Amino acid sequence: MKAFDSSMIKTDNLTYEYIRRDEEGNVEGITTAVDGVSLDITPGEFIAILGHNGSGKSTLAKHINAILTPSEGTVWVDGKDTSDEANIWDIRQSAGMVFQNPDNQIIGQVVEEDVGFGPENLGVPTKEIWERVEESLKAVGMYAYRKASPNKLSGGQKQRISIAGVLAMHPKCIVLDEPTAMLDPNGRKDVIRAVRALNDVEKITIILITHYMEEIIHADRVFVMDEGHIAMEGTPRQIFSRVDTLKALRLDVPQVTELAYLLNKNGIPMPVGILTIDEFTEALCHTR
Ligand code: ADP
Ligand code: MG
Repeated sequence: MKAFDSSMIKTDNLTYEYIRRDEEGNVEGITTAVDGVSLDITPGEFIAILGHNGSGKSTLAKHINAILTPSEGTVWVDGKDTSDEANIWDIRQSAGMVFQNPDNQIIGQVVEEDVGFGPENLGVPTKEIWERVEESLKAVGMYAYRKASPNKLSGGQKQRISIAGVLAMHPKCIVLDEPTAMLDPNGRKDVIRAVRALNDVEKITIILITHYMEEIIHADRVFVMDEGHIAMEGTPRQIFSRVDTLKALRLDVPQVTELAYLLNKNGIPMPVGILTIDEFTEALCHTR
């Protein structure tokens, strides 16, 4: 079975179970980490995935890169079924992955060398490797640091180097699993700005897993996960207008969003789904 050509990522009833065994190999317990998820992501979309710890976000993400394959159901990346071994090489090239800790992803002694490892492994000719390294470093705003030693960089800079390393492999889609979780606020902003540019300028499909609500404002669509399910789906504004549901799913709502919601609830008419301080101020000035 083949997915529609218009899908970048498609899952049909994706279910994944972690099975715990004792020393003798007997099954001790089963955790259903992803439970019957069906979704369809089109090329060029910016998707954000939210959800409290243990809701299944990382397990879902690992299926997009074929690190895990489904216990039940099917995942297609760019039309290719991830459970077919013959597709793995193509899938890993189509869908790059960036993880939480940049220190585990950087292996080169010099920035430009590190970014060149991916294309080198793909057998890209040397001249083209250097072109890709240059364009990738420029795309994440790190070209000035090409000769630097990665271990002298800040967390945010290192994370942008890891993103450049993925970018140099010319993926169609990049999955970022809490890429800003270990960064300070400035590092977070720089990483998110770089990710947005990859989507806006290079039209790369982005799947951003985060627990920072403010990072999802620019997404086309948001999925909220809970206990292995997609509990909510919609635009950021639709999602943010459901403050009670978000709280029930143990998520923090931005202060301005919650304040607007509470004012509204208490008889001061405010539009729902306010996302920024500017929108809030604007709306407050126009009440009554
Ligand atoms: P999230 O990324 O949203 O925090 P995960 O996908 O990491 O969620 O985890 C989903 C569930 O699967 C959790 O209950 C977690 O404990 C369990 N889990 C994750 N990784 C493993 C593993 N390697 N072995 C067993 N259980 C796991
Ligand atoms: Mg996780």
